[in-house]
This record gives sequence, C-alpha cells and structure tokens, in this order.
Amino acid sequence: MQENIIIAASETQSHRCSMVQPTWQQQLSHAIRDPQALCERLGLSSDWLAGAQAGHDLFDVCVPEAYLNRIAYADIDDPLLRQVLPLGEEALTPHGYVVDPLEEADHRPAKGLIHKYAGRVLLIASPNCAINCRYCFRRHFPYSDNSPSRTQWQEALDYLRSDTTIHEAILSGGDPLAASDRQLAWLVEQLESIPHLKRLRIHTRLPVVIPDRVDDALLGWLASTRLQKVVVLHINHANEVDQAVVDACARLKQTGATLLNQSVLLRDVNDTAATLANLSERLFEAGILPYYLHVLDPVQGAAHFDVPDEEARELVAQLRDHLPGFLMPRLVREIPGRGSKTPL
Ligand SMILES: *Cc1c(COP(=O)(O)O)cnc(C)c1O
Ligand code: SF4
Repeated sequence: MQENIIIAASETQSHRCSMVQPTWQQQLSHAIRDPQALCERLGLSSDWLAGAQAGHDLFDVCVPEAYLNRIAYADIDDPLLRQVLPLGEEALTPHGYVVDPLEEADHRPAKGLIHKYAGRVLLIASPNCAINCRYCFRRHFPYSDNSPSRTQWQEALDYLRSDTTIHEAILSGGDPLAASDRQLAWLVEQLESIPHLKRLRIHTRLPVVIPDRVDDALLGWLASTRLQKVVVLHINHANEVDQAVVDACARLKQTGATLLNQSVLLRDVNDTAATLANLSERLFEAGILPYYLHVLDPVQGAAHFDVPDEEARELVAQLRDHLPGFLMPRLVREIPGRGSKTPL
C-alpha cells in the first residue's frame, strides 16, 4: 500500500515536470548518444546491436527525443530510423567511396569559409549537429580545424569584404543553428555591414530535429537583419514533418524568410515515387518548397544508401506524373571542380 502511494506521488511529480518544456539546448544535451540506448528506446532486437556499435565507433550516434518520437516502435524499416541507426555496413570500404567526396579541402581561402561557386560562399558557423545522419557527406569533416572564434572569423569577413562579387553568405556546418543565438546574431551583424552582401542563407536541419530551436532568440536576429533570408531545411521523408515542425516553419516564415528544402535520395528511406510525392505535398503544407534532391555523395560508410543514377532519373520521371511543376525538386549531383551542382 505504502509503496503504491509513493509511486503515485512520484508519477504526479514527473507529469508536472514534463509540462515545463525543456529548452532546445536541454533537449540536445539529452539526445541519445549510445547505440544500446537507441536500440532499447526503439524496441529493436539485440541482433542490431553489434552493427550499431560498429557504426557508432566510426561516427557517433546522436538522436534527440523530439526526433525519436516520430519513429515507429520496433520497426526496423522505419524510414526515419534508417537515417539514424548505424549498421554494420558502415564499416565497408567499397571502391570510390572516400573521406572527402566533395574535395572541399581545396577551396578554403580562410578558416571556416568555402568558396566554390560564383557569388556565394559557405561559412561553417558551427561544427556540431543536433542529429547524426548516417549518410552524411561530412561524417569525416575535420571540424576542429574549421570552427573559428570571433577573432578567427576576421579573416573570413575580410575575404568577404574584399570580394564584391559575393552577394550571398550561406551559413552551413555541421548545423549552423547548433551555434548560440549570441554568436549567430554577432556573425549576422558583421555580414550585414558588408554592403555588397544581399542575401543570408541558412542550411539547417535543426528546426526539423528539434522544432523548439525556433525560439524567440532566433526569431529576433533573423527578423531584424536587412539581408534577404532563405532557410534551406533538410527533410527526407514526410514523417519528419509533424505538427511541431509545421509550427516552427510558420514562425520562421513570419520573419520574412523563404523556406526551401533539400533531400538526399536514400535507399530504403525515400526511394519510391510515391514516397517522394508525399514528401513534396507535406512540405508544401508546411510552407516549404522543394529545392534539391541530391543523389548520395560517395562518402565512406554510406554506400548502402546509394541509389544508382539511372534509377534516380527514372524515379524523378515518375514523380513528374504525380506533381505540379513547383513541387518538383531538382535532381542533382555534386561533382568536385564544377561551378555549380550538376543536374542529372
Ligand atoms: C551547394 C553549395 C552552395 C550552394 O549552391 P546552390 O546551387 O546555390 O544552392 C554553395 N557553396 C558550396 C560550397 C556548396 O556546396
Ligand atoms: S544534420 Fe546535416 S550536416 Fe549534420 S549529420 Fe545530418 S546531414 Fe550531416
């Protein structure tokens, strides 16, 4: 009897606590970062554990609860699970799969800055991500060399100031929104003082992974910049867009930002025309337009996600039969040395 009362009391208390929504930083620090905890949380049989551990040794597991709760329980085929669960196949090293598939190391005129395309540059605004996507082409990126402090940003900012052909700064990462709003507000203030910069683009998965990231502090600096704003989200499957994501996108739009999406075409995640059509429809419901559908970059550890180009073209041809033109993503590949993404 006594015991029951104690349990009931502690349940009430934990219920009360859960009503105070943790901040995005708290949610990030409580993310699952252990393969065994991930398997247990999602009810996966122990058959998957050895592979998960092997993959984790190459690239850490990281999945926050807000993303986990969109994954079906005990379903190894869940399309969101496939994106975050390490598999034994990650240890394979097939020919052509390399550590730096985009050869970005050759295009860094300043620390934290990648200039490959005319008129726009990438700034590595944060080395961290809120989730570790198993197919990520940056899984081997030497972030420790590329996360500048304020003084170190000066070199990148000087480069931007001196090249008047650059009109767009793209905050990238990692995930740029993993940086603090204090840092981001500072960086954006520096950027907007450069007269020839017109646009601020942010490539991020955080509003999808932890929708509470789109909080007042972020909306504050985003709404107040003179730069035109484009937020390119990264969503691969319609199931990633729950109501909290829809709400976060609505808040982003209120700042005047244009919302676009890029996806990666992934085996067993989104490799059917029906899945891709659903994704485009769901994106539009959330106020987002499809931008790119990337074929996989040949990064070591991700070969099992590959969909061959011929099949990708066929899928996109089928997709065109389902969707209005404005919901069609552009199928592209990134080829090192080219001045833009290459349409397939
Ligand atoms: C993808 C990419 C861009 C942006 O390309 P868009 O085609 O404008 O979206 C810019 N710089 C680098 C290095 C890139 O990889
Ligand atoms: S959020 Fe983006 S950069 Fe980070 S692991 Fe996923 S795909 Fe890679």
